[in-house]
Amino acid sequence: MHPRQLRNSLHCPLCPTLSEPTTLPCGHAVCADHFPLSRCPWPQCAPVAGPSRPRIPPTSRVHYLPPPPAPPHPQTLHTPRQDVTLNKVIALLDRVLADNDSDDDYDDDEPLVRISDRPRKRPRLHNLDTGDDDEDGGDLLSHLRSVSRPIDPPLDLEKALLTELSCEICFMLLHNPVTTPCQHTFCSKCLHRALDHSNLCPLCRDTLPGFSFFEDHPSNLTLNTLLLTVFPAESTLRAESLAAEERDARLDTPIFVCMLIFPNNPTALHFFEPRYRLMLRRCLEQEVPSFGMIMPPRHSGGPALAQSQNQIDYGTMVEVRSVQMLPDGRSMVETWSTFRFRILERGTLDGYTVARIEPIFDIPDSPSSSPTLDGPSNEQLMDICTQFLQQLRRGTAPWVVQRLNNVYGAPPSDPAQFAYWVALILPIDEFEKAKLLPIRSARLRLRLVVHWIEQLNNNWWFTSGCVVF
Ligand SMILES: [Zn+2]
Ligand SMILES: [Zn+2]
Ligand SMILES: [Zn+2]
Ligand SMILES: [Zn+2]
Repeated sequence: MHPRQLRNSLHCPLCPTLSEPTTLPCGHAVCADHFPLSRCPWPQCAPVAGPSRPRIPPTSRVHYLPPPPAPPHPQTLHTPRQDVTLNKVIALLDRVLADNDSDDDYDDDEPLVRISDRPRKRPRLHNLDTGDDDEDGGDLLSHLRSVSRPIDPPLDLEKALLTELSCEICFMLLHNPVTTPCQHTFCSKCLHRALDHSNLCPLCRDTLPGFSFFEDHPSNLTLNTLLLTVFPAESTLRAESLAAEERDARLDTPIFVCMLIFPNNPTALHFFEPRYRLMLRRCLEQEVPSFGMIMPPRHSGGPALAQSQNQIDYGTMVEVRSVQMLPDGRSMVETWSTFRFRILERGTLDGYTVARIEPIFDIPDSPSSSPTLDGPSNEQLMDICTQFLQQLRRGTAPWVVQRLNNVYGAPPSDPAQFAYWVALILPIDEFEKAKLLPIRSARLRLRLVVHWIEQLNNNWWFTSGCVVF
């Protein structure tokens, strides 16, 4: 866009050109000359030039007491200061327009073109030999004068605007710019964070009206328009990166993609990949070092398998019990698994997965949930499992049961844990075993394990003693 078009797009509702503007709490800009004002002169603006009332967070379960209404800041409507950022932008545009009164350095239809990117108009030397007269009429003296005149260093307008439209807190392009009564502008989020620490303006140390005044505060509309006009791609990128930041802030559980485990089991892990070493170091800074563990996705689906179908959504949290750091940075870690979880949202932090999780706890099997209470009792189901394990012990693989006893201890008497313990030994696919994780009923888990045992017993290769582990 041509700088003149850009300059003309900065409006005042009361006069032809916006000059020395002040930005009102409603986000509209008005020339300082028109003050004092009883209300914002922009048509269709709210009658009181103040921020809209803060909204009560709709999903918050916390009792939310809205703060008392914040009156419009008196200073803004009566003794205006000038909008610092907007005035700098206007001064910059006016300077460029004064410097380039021929206007030829810009194309109307192109996005804002950097002046330095384009050849600046330089006076052509008169060609005495050919007598090629230029538009100046061949006045050699005027040519020599203009050649000897010092040329200002070219102004990179885009760069200069980028500097002026950057936030003084985060030093990035302003996003959702909010202008304070002292007429300093910051990203809305940056200002909120600054107000968490102090109610003084981060730039001029003026006392600001307080957090509630700026909660849900309208953006500076003039600056917003400028940002979207001059830096549309950068503004979109900035919005996307802020959204990603917010999302990742919610993803507070590190995830170790390693193997299937069930609750209440010890696991020894070896951390050697750099990303997981970093993850472990961060975990160890926590009061209770813990992370989520999920099994790796099945790769046999190939590229045709959609990523969402190939994702593992259920896992188990583990607490770090001991860490043996090796001199080369690797570490051996002993963990104890605590509870199951479902991944609600996932992202990536420095190469490893981070997630927002929801714990999965059992729902007691009550008599009212009759369908799950049909058939054999829990004790009978556990008996079927025990008999199967004895059959294994007598058969070709007694070492398996021995190993299970050594590693995981004696079979648990709690039906809620028993199915996990049996599943560890069964010679079936890990993805099949993982079906135990989402089940919230101890009884249904036992039934599933017994179902697997029945299938194994029915397979000729298994009953013939060919157990393959
Ligand atoms: Zn207004
Ligand atoms: Zn005006
Ligand atoms: Zn900022
Ligand atoms: Zn200030």
